[in-house]
Amino acid sequence: MLPPLIGFARDIVRANFDRCDLPYKVTLVATYHCNFRCEMCGIWQKKSAGEMTAAEVEVFFGRWPQFSWVHLTGGELFMRRDLEDVVTAILDRDRALYLLNFPTTGWFGDRTVLLVERILRRGIGRLMTTISIDGPRELHDAMRGLPGSWERGLETFRRLRAINRPNYQAVVGMTLFDKNASCVSATIEAIREVIPDFERRDLHLNIGHESSHYFANAGFVAGITLDTSRRYRALPSRRPASSTRSGSCSHARSGAGRSGISAPKASTCGGYGPVPLPRRCARRSSTKSAPIAGRRARPTRRFSATS
Ligand code: SF4
Repeated sequence: MLPPLIGFARDIVRANFDRCDLPYKVTLVATYHCNFRCEMCGIWQKKSAGEMTAAEVEVFFGRWPQFSWVHLTGGELFMRRDLEDVVTAILDRDRALYLLNFPTTGWFGDRTVLLVERILRRGIGRLMTTISIDGPRELHDAMRGLPGSWERGLETFRRLRAINRPNYQAVVGMTLFDKNASCVSATIEAIREVIPDFERRDLHLNIGHESSHYFANAGFVAGITLDTSRRYRALPSRRPASSTRSGSCSHARSGAGRSGISAPKASTCGGYGPVPLPRRCARRSSTKSAPIAGRRARPTRRFSATS
């Protein structure tokens, strides 16, 4: 068998220019249990029936050991007490594995850090963790339905980011829909209040979407366009010299982002107070997508963990 990195690269090329004999990426939903009460997601209301046991995961990857990319997700993964067994089953059996990534709310900081350290100690081609943050503090906590989740999520991110390994990357994942689509700059600024060297490239943007079978949010319309997403991707990666650290939304104040990008007019983020959802988004809805792979890990970390 080829070394995992070469196999991963070969799989991506084949998938884009030819055909893979078998899929090279699998998304494993390990649980639907979730302690959050996100207004845009119905997963937390679902029963987590039929979860694969760690033994079943082992059988699956023993039979299909060709996945070079495993995306592990939930629910909130750390609601599963045997999560480490599930991960071990993947690492034991997936002989082609190069990239393992998983999102988490960051609520279970100690367990998250411990699992990441254990995976890295054991050895893996590349590991990526995404901490979900959907806006500045008040907006995030309101959307996520759990007071204190912003602080806990960022504290976990800060600790993960301090794990300085070339094959490991921790990022913040922000999922965009009408309520927070104009708040990307404000979110970056708010995060920089506690993590001063947070950069644009530390933030992954996802597009909110609906899914009846997964998010249980049929009828939800994200309300933002790919064009909106593309414009936000053009945000500067470093803090501009004129940047304010007030944390309020530049779009709301000036009508334009710091990069000169026009702000969507549908909502503002000034003060992060309640921004009413458009009528079509008033139902329970969800916004989640796989993080973008392939970003390079930062070579150095200037921030130290103070757990
Ligand atoms: S979006 Fe994530 S954290 Fe929120 S309820 Fe759904 S699974 Fe839980």
